[in-house]
Amino acid sequence: MNVLVVGGAGYIGSHCVRQLQTAGHSPLVLDNLVYGHRHAVASDIPFFDEDLGNRHAVAQILKENNIDVVMHFAAYAYVGESVTEPLKYYENNVGNTIQLLLAMQDAGVTKFVFSSTCATYGVPQSLPIVEDLPQSPINPYGQTKLQVEAILKDLAAIGKISSAVFRYFNASGAAEDGSIGECHDPETHLIPLAIDAATGKRSALKIFGTDYPTPDGTCLRDYIHVDDLSRAHIAVFDQLEDPKAFVHYNLGTGRPTSVREILDAVEKVTGLPVPAEEAPRRAGDPPSLYADNTKARQGLGWEPQHMDIESTIATAWKWHHANPDGYAS
Ligand code: UDP
Repeated sequence: MNVLVVGGAGYIGSHCVRQLQTAGHSPLVLDNLVYGHRHAVASDIPFFDEDLGNRHAVAQILKENNIDVVMHFAAYAYVGESVTEPLKYYENNVGNTIQLLLAMQDAGVTKFVFSSTCATYGVPQSLPIVEDLPQSPINPYGQTKLQVEAILKDLAAIGKISSAVFRYFNASGAAEDGSIGECHDPETHLIPLAIDAATGKRSALKIFGTDYPTPDGTCLRDYIHVDDLSRAHIAVFDQLEDPKAFVHYNLGTGRPTSVREILDAVEKVTGLPVPAEEAPRRAGDPPSLYADNTKARQGLGWEPQHMDIESTIATAWKWHHANPDGYAS
């Protein structure tokens, strides 16, 4: 398949490009490099420095390169910022996705793979989270993803564009060879911040909330290796052949891990103490989010390979150790 990876210079997109190559597909990358990194994409991959909202330019790229499938990873994803600047999020995550879908229609491309999120469930009614729980996001970021899911469902119903929607839990880790990895500016995610606290690059890690109704009082999350996520995106291709397909899957390990357990695992993997201090809860953090991934296992024949949090953190450590300043290193 010729696959246009929109946002392919970002964290998850760049790992997906690698997995597509490994699986024998031909990835091409479109990224405006607002948050993406040119060095995250190998020089032999066709690269278009273009804005996904530029419908006519994108349609041209789709046509000229005989694209079969579009994978869409390009979104703003800072939950706190989405609360203070909702229009920025609706404009980019919803508005520009509509432009991308219009470009696909212009070019006659009919298969779409979309990055959604467990944030669409809000505070889940029950755990582990199954796909048919009510979706009720508690922040604009989650709302933007849910709105795109609704648009995709409507397009599939009329046989215009078939879609696979993946609701990610906490994407983590890095490529096994340490050549690409997680590099956000600003960084807000727990594992890279804990590694930076261990190496002294940043000050003590703040544990956001120690009074949650969880076994050790800190939040539970489901940390899924970025390569495991990526492989699911490729396993779904067959299902997109039906023009009315609209499939959705949770992508997580199914295993809850607390913030304190992450810090312990980072200490074990790095051999360094992680200085940490207790801090108030962060607004908008649900106490527990972890997946029931039965549907993805059965529907995709997919199996996460990194079930052990230390193996996931080991890959993150390899990347951060070799590239303490991310791609600037
Ligand atoms: N967290 C924390 N300190 C930090 C960053 C994150 O205690 O400096 C906690 C956060 O409250 C959440 C978990 O770590 O419970 C994972 O947060 P992250 O931002 O990595 O991902 P999220 O679950 O928000 O998508």
